[in-house]
Amino acid sequence: MNTKVYTIKDPSSPQGEDLKMIAECGEIIKRGGLVAFPTETVYGLGGDALNEDSSGKIYAAKGRPSDNPLIVHICELSAIEKIARDIPEEAYILARKFWPGPLTMILKSSGVVPLKTTGGLDTVAIRMPSDKVALEFIKASGGYVAAPSANISGRPSPTKACYVLEDMDGRIDAVIDGGDNAIGLESTIIDLTEDSMQVLRPGYITNEMLSEALGRDIETDPALLDPTRKERPKAPGMRYRHYAPKGEVHPVKGDADKVFEHIREELTKAKGDNKKTGVFCSKDNAGKYDADVIRCAGSLDDAETAAHHFYSALRDMDDENVDIIFVENFTERGFGEAFWNRLLKSAGSEWEDA
Ligand code: AMP
Ligand code: MG
Repeated sequence: MNTKVYTIKDPSSPQGEDLKMIAECGEIIKRGGLVAFPTETVYGLGGDALNEDSSGKIYAAKGRPSDNPLIVHICELSAIEKIARDIPEEAYILARKFWPGPLTMILKSSGVVPLKTTGGLDTVAIRMPSDKVALEFIKASGGYVAAPSANISGRPSPTKACYVLEDMDGRIDAVIDGGDNAIGLESTIIDLTEDSMQVLRPGYITNEMLSEALGRDIETDPALLDPTRKERPKAPGMRYRHYAPKGEVHPVKGDADKVFEHIREELTKAKGDNKKTGVFCSKDNAGKYDADVIRCAGSLDDAETAAHHFYSALRDMDDENVDIIFVENFTERGFGEAFWNRLLKSAGSEWEDA
């Protein structure tokens, strides 16, 4: 299959030619094809959510286990009434506050979305993204686009169209290139089908923001915070190894000075073992390490910049065949919870103390 690339001239306000290209891509979806598209979180691999054959093609293109459900992307709030049932008031409160935006809600399924899309579950994950190209594309596609991240299953999610092509060239009909994703990490997922209303995957919309909007304490699924627990994470996707580059990822915790010294020592050892080395660090330290590949974010307390650059750093390390990657101790507060969740998954849940 020849994967066609549609490059959007003005992603912040698509008009004219841009809208024509998006309309063409919408037709591909309506015909049962697959199109990767930008959102404010990461690139999605879109298919018609109401067509089980399309969902089957998504699983095949990604090599994704078929019990790992897809998120249905919509472009207007009224769409939830067709695909969900017994919708709690909290869903409307969160939708008014955070949609369009990086929040996915799990609701009871009305049965309209095929089981193939929901991974066999009687619940459905729904999100309205804020990216303008995404919204136009969902509208042009008929209003219900199933889309996981547009990477081969297990690899870091793509945050640029070139990374989508790295994984998906020849496997899907088209890619809409709308530039870099603003956030760079997948959406927050909240489960509204149970009274506990837990966060099943942390993201840009933090527990504090959700708690404030709902006037009650919202907590993260405890199985995510402690991977040694017996209970499995409630979000099927969080059970699999994920977001991982080919090289080993070593997050290092501790005071900034100690982390710096620890990484320097480990780099020396790794070089002695003839390993190709990489570091993902704060911008202040970028020039101070002797590593083969160095990628930096902002300061250690800036989770947004760290998250924004993380997946592209991992992909760059892969391109350079890096064997071992050290990551400095970026903050775990606020959006840092989501950053650390992905970092630890990419590292197989292990870290080292400086
Ligand atoms: P991705 O599309 O790769 O960002 O992953 C979507 C993730 O959403 C899946 O891997 C699941 O973990 C989660 N998810 C989707 N639908 C449901 C659902 N009905 N119940 C719980 N988690 C879900
Ligand atoms: Mg994914």
